[in-house]
Amino acid sequence: MLKIGHSVTRPGKKAQDPPVVLNVPEELETAPGIVQRPAEVDFYSREYPLELANVETTADRDWEWPFHSQELNDFHREHERLNRPLVEACRATTDLEPTATPVPGKDVSELIKTKARELGIGEVGITQLDRRYVFKFIRGYVKYQHAVCIAYEQDYEGTQGAPGMSAERPHFDTYREMVPPILALGDYIRSLGYNAQVHHPDDNVVATVAMFMQAGMGQLGANGQLLSPHFGSRARHTVITTDALVTYDEPVDYGMHAFCDICQVCVNRCPGRALMRDKVWWRGVQKHKLIYRRCRPVIARYEGCAVCMKVCPIQRYGMKNVLDHYAATGVVLGKGTHGLEGYTMKDKGYFGPGELPRFSSDFFDMPHGRSEDVAFEELKDRIKEGDIPDGAEGDQALREFKERVEQYVKMPLNFQGNPQDEYAKQE
Ligand code: SF4
Ligand code: SF4
Repeated sequence: MLKIGHSVTRPGKKAQDPPVVLNVPEELETAPGIVQRPAEVDFYSREYPLELANVETTADRDWEWPFHSQELNDFHREHERLNRPLVEACRATTDLEPTATPVPGKDVSELIKTKARELGIGEVGITQLDRRYVFKFIRGYVKYQHAVCIAYEQDYEGTQGAPGMSAERPHFDTYREMVPPILALGDYIRSLGYNAQVHHPDDNVVATVAMFMQAGMGQLGANGQLLSPHFGSRARHTVITTDALVTYDEPVDYGMHAFCDICQVCVNRCPGRALMRDKVWWRGVQKHKLIYRRCRPVIARYEGCAVCMKVCPIQRYGMKNVLDHYAATGVVLGKGTHGLEGYTMKDKGYFGPGELPRFSSDFFDMPHGRSEDVAFEELKDRIKEGDIPDGAEGDQALREFKERVEQYVKMPLNFQGNPQDEYAKQE
């Protein structure tokens, strides 16, 4: 039995559940939240601000469409149809006024958290709205100085079927399912006398994991996702920003920073070899950095992939069970078993522990960055090759380039940086 270094008590998974005590072995202790160099975080957020993927990586988003199955496109289209009024409802909270007068000096943190749990929100924490993590595209939109951080559980059964539609459906369904509870929580905060801006979870206004760690809700896993106590990374995130009188939660060391170095299941099982075995310093934090160009081609062809979520023991068994098993045996629960590590990829078959699919070298070829920048690079190549002659033919080529760029830069975007009608574009 390993020596326990410290224990963390968290509320139970459901409102009526008793608290859970997580015993962190001494050998897994590192730092609360994440290991970071604050001056570097400041520097990168100031000089290289974070941007929405919807804005910054439009080229590969356009590129991936032909790989989608009809079933996936139909499902996403239906999601868009059902989701749009929910996005509008969240956006409308920006202009709502408090419905009561606040009790002077009364801290409402526990009231908000209790209400959140009554509404079925599995993990909730409160911290400062850290503007270093608000996406550049949307900075002017986000109001208020505090963030109520919300992790809403995604369906267990469906997620275990990743990669495929069985996991992709709950992924998007969760974005819609959690909207009524978060709107209700926003109403509740306003009933306490404060403003509450509810942000839709489907493409967030902030890099949530950084703030959720600050709010003590979990730690960053090697899969790039928040490992929270009850459902690990099997959750969808959002924040409600507010001016309510609150107390901030503190970051917590759950032992995950060190545990991931030992576990490595997601790293070993990633079909795209997109996860790193070792941590690096990235934008001022020490983390396992996902390699986007190796992940995106898999996501595009295999319904969002999510193998790294499915094979994570914290997601599968819960953090308490995994920590207790490790403390008792020194072994990662489920590691090396078909039950945890096995998955099936359409057209490739089943892969058990130690087995990975192979892809041809051109599988990972995809355009990078913004669509208009890719169009410009292609034009430069044509000019280099003498493919844009003087005269009418060259003029026509330049006109076509201009029309292509116009299509990208004049496309109406919704407030999340998505084209307003993503699907109309494909028809
Ligand atoms: S989504 Fe798939 S390809 Fe991307 S990191 Fe996770 S396991 Fe790897
Ligand atoms: S699978 Fe293991 S290494 Fe990967 S995030 Fe989960 S606990 Fe960490």
